[in-house]
Amino acid sequence: MNLSDDELDRYARQIVLRQVGGVGQRKLKDASVAIVGAGGIGSAAIPALTGAGIGKLTIIDDDVVELANLHRQPLFRQSDAGKAKAELAAAFARNLNSHTEVRPIQERIEPDNAQRLLGGHSLVLDGSDNFATRLAVSDACVSLSIPLISAAAVQFQGQVGLFRSRPCYRCFVGDAFDSEDCDNCAELGVLGALTATVGSFAALLAINSIVGIGEDQEGRLRLFDGEKLDWRTIRIPADPACRACGSV
Ligand SMILES: [Zn+2]
Repeated sequence: MNLSDDELDRYARQIVLRQVGGVGQRKLKDASVAIVGAGGIGSAAIPALTGAGIGKLTIIDDDVVELANLHRQPLFRQSDAGKAKAELAAAFARNLNSHTEVRPIQERIEPDNAQRLLGGHSLVLDGSDNFATRLAVSDACVSLSIPLISAAAVQFQGQVGLFRSRPCYRCFVGDAFDSEDCDNCAELGVLGALTATVGSFAALLAINSIVGIGEDQEGRLRLFDGEKLDWRTIRIPADPACRACGSV
């Protein structure tokens, strides 16, 4: 897919990067990314990916804006309270970059609709706020063979990982949390600067992965400690008994 003069002007500062160039920019344009959750992580990842020139962006969120979201979700304004996040985030993205085809979906991802909603994308970035959704997203990505970037932030801890079928996110967390919202921000608290850090990292990982920049990050989980201001990396081993990827 060729780039127009307008696109060459718009992306000039990233096309000039040796690691991106015109070839990388076209890869971004050819990419179709589903973002699960237009919350704190989505508020950082959606502008970064839209601005970078991702060709197609699907924004999936069933929630509406509340006043208590605004400290970590700068996609939204005070006057947006009560309005659907997916629609507002899509309007933001369309205003930022008319070259990105944006599709909002106001649905909650569950095990029985995840494959339908995520099918056809080249990458999924999950910034949802609970284990049940993350596991449903992960299982669907394993079944559909779609790379998954899973990102989460709660209290002062953040984590971001890239999974390609095996090991998968379920290998990391196991089966105990499918019906639990046990790490929900509403109960535990989180800082907006932390969700923005993790969301921006996830967007960078997505761009690097799509363009092919740097070493492949599959199966590595980056953990951010917001008190020590320190990142560390762990490798996720594949669980031979994993019910999602164990038989793949
Ligand atoms: Zn697994």
